[in-house]
Amino acid sequence: MKVLVINCGSSSVKFKVFEMPKEILVAEGNVEKIGEEVGLFSYTKGNKQLFYRSQVDVKTHNEALSLIAKTLVDASVGIIKDVNEIKGVGHRVVHGGEGFDRSVILTDEIITKIEEYQALAPLHNPHNLSGIRASMEFFPDSLQVAAFDTAFHTTIPPVAYLYAIPYEFYEKYRIRRYGFHGTSHRYVARRAAELMGKGKYDINVITCHLGNGCSITAVRNGRSVDTSMGLTPLEGLVMGTRSGDIDPGVIFHMIDSLGLSLKEVQDILNKKSGLLGISGVSNDFRNLLEKMEEDRVLLAIDIYSYRIKKYIGAYMAVLGRVDAIVFTGGAGENVPEVRERALSGLENFGIVLDNEKNYQNFAKEEEISATNSKIKVFVIPTNEELRIAFDTYQMVIKK
Ligand code: ADP
Repeated sequence: MKVLVINCGSSSVKFKVFEMPKEILVAEGNVEKIGEEVGLFSYTKGNKQLFYRSQVDVKTHNEALSLIAKTLVDASVGIIKDVNEIKGVGHRVVHGGEGFDRSVILTDEIITKIEEYQALAPLHNPHNLSGIRASMEFFPDSLQVAAFDTAFHTTIPPVAYLYAIPYEFYEKYRIRRYGFHGTSHRYVARRAAELMGKGKYDINVITCHLGNGCSITAVRNGRSVDTSMGLTPLEGLVMGTRSGDIDPGVIFHMIDSLGLSLKEVQDILNKKSGLLGISGVSNDFRNLLEKMEEDRVLLAIDIYSYRIKKYIGAYMAVLGRVDAIVFTGGAGENVPEVRERALSGLENFGIVLDNEKNYQNFAKEEEISATNSKIKVFVIPTNEELRIAFDTYQMVIKK
């Protein structure tokens, strides 16, 4: 059975088609720069033999989904004859609020609920919803499923999810920590348990998802009990262009004393801060690592890694017993310099990195702790789409 997974961002639609339950990737692609003068479409068949990257005129998410559907059934480059061969479509939905602790089949009622959470995730949910609506149009016979970034974190207790602001802001407006990247944290926590020969509910693990956005989660007995992102994906770790934790007073100061508008401050904290803001060079480690001799580049990497170390320390205190630490996401998987800095000097806490292993080139899961490390350290490539495909597949066969 073929399952399509859709990840709709503000100006892009990423997609993957899996043959399930064999978990074989049969096609994938990305429509980028939606709404811009010239859009970009890249498409790869699973066997990688066919690949193209071309300019396209795509103004809306709906047009992007139409292009994807047409490509998948195309006689020369497609992988199916009819769109009804796609039995399920799994959608990544960023904010599921408090309402969804697992993936669900999309109904009108569920869509209305996701619309209600729009105010909590104005940068994400509206695009996710556009993708869902378009997918219902172009894959009308497929079961549509939503997988929420927040779902894995619904087990976080009030002591960790409440902000110390007047309680009515929670009661009336549901202002609290929600956490994101849940699909990824859940997947790598489960894999770490498997790699250690433990049951999925027997492991205590700290999972570090370091991509463009970054978050870290404390997992006790296989369940999320605290995470660094909050009401929005701006809190916590230093990210590519986001500041992460900051004294809220900085915002008041920027507005009251420096005369910036709220919109400008929002833009600064979301798009001009983090690695980019400190280094002045880039938000991407591939560029930063080439310029490590520049003081501010080095400083940016140090600050980024130091924040991870602080959270690891905090979550060790939260968990009491930690079996493993996992690094995942583009930077977590590919930047040994960060892993080394984040874990340096933690030997007294039972964390000893094998530096040679850490710097080895590897394309798959790897244990990088020394043999005498009480706490295991793993690099586990994340696969959010496969998790979503799996959830979708299970719903299709149960239906
Ligand atoms: P997203 O969060 O959008 O899913 P990724 O998880 O792919 O993105 O992470 C993207 C980031 O990961 C890049 O900005 C870059 O900093 C880092 N990254 C990805 N691949 C590499 C690589 N081969 N070497 C160094 N850094 C990388």
